Amino acid sequence: MSDVCKCGYDINHPKVIHKSEYSKFGWFLFTILGLSAKPKKVTFICSDCNQTISITSDPKILQKFIGR
Ligand SMILES: [Zn+2]
Repeated sequence: MSDVCKCGYDINHPKVIHKSEYSKFGWFLFTILGLSAKPKKVTFICSDCNQTISITSDPKILQKFIGR
C-alpha cells in the first residue's frame, strides 16, 4: 500500500475517488433510514489507473466521510 498511485496522485487529488464501506448496521441506517452513518472503512482509488492508494479505518479520517 503506497500513498500515491503510479500517476503520482495522493488521496487529496481530485482524480482520486473514495469508496466508503459500511458495516451491516451502518448500511441499514444510511440506506434504509437515510441517517448519517460512519463508514467502517474508506478506500481511496485513482480514477485514472484504478490503483488503490490507501485503505483507512482511522476513526479521525472516517469522521469526514459520514453519510458520503
Ligand atoms: Zn493513478
